[in-house]
Amino acid sequence: CGIVGYIGKRDVAPLLLEGLQRLEYRGYDSAGIAVQAKPGKGANGQSATGLKTAKAKGRVRDLEAKLPKRFAGTAGIAHTRWATHGAPNDINAHPHLDADGKVAIVHNGIIDNASDLRAKLSADGVELISDTDSEVLAHLIGRSQAATLEEKVRHALALVEGTYGIAVLHADFPDRIVVARNGSPVVLGIGEKEMFVASDVAALVSHTRQVITLDDGEMATIKADDYRTYTTEGSRTAPAPTTVEWEA
Ligand code: GLU
Repeated sequence: CGIVGYIGKRDVAPLLLEGLQRLEYRGYDSAGIAVQAKPGKGANGQSATGLKTAKAKGRVRDLEAKLPKRFAGTAGIAHTRWATHGAPNDINAHPHLDADGKVAIVHNGIIDNASDLRAKLSADGVELISDTDSEVLAHLIGRSQAATLEEKVRHALALVEGTYGIAVLHADFPDRIVVARNGSPVVLGIGEKEMFVASDVAALVSHTRQVITLDDGEMATIKADDYRTYTTEGSRTAPAPTTVEWEA
């Protein structure tokens, strides 16, 4: 139903929760968030990176109440879900992770061939945690052998039929968020050394009025200080940013 994402210098969780609240008017049954943990020292002195997630059935404030104390990050994605496949509960709430916990995705829309893809993944030994159509995307991205996150997402999308607006985090690619659109809106928000993404400009306008609306079949990579757009086949696109008029 609703997607918000952020990459930049600011602490991501409060920003994303605020964005989700601005999408509440659309209705939803659960909410969730994933952040790219700030690099820090792990127990053995090696740098500890990776994804952290929190999900809750109910309202955005129920999610907020469930957030662990240490939830700092400088990139993150969040979602309000309106269930189509699988009951509204904590497990079926987005984000969904792949088996290694390295990929987190939020998805709006419906994957029409999800039961087919679930059966194939199960036959390959993948344990599906949720009852959603969306979870297959996380596994397909995680299992792609491609070298770049963009290619991994492209490979996964080539296997799915249906509608999607998605945002993807990967623990091995902490400097970016990859998004894609087919039949479900995705809007980029361009800030000063920070970038936003959302399914609805309502979640962006308190931060920036410079936006790019993706077309169906279009993807984007956002980084704190840079973005690029391209088709799901990989050729670059060059949509001009527009300025949204919005009465506060
Ligand atoms: N089909 C997905 C699900 O049921 C996404 C629903 C949505 O757009 O919120 O989890």
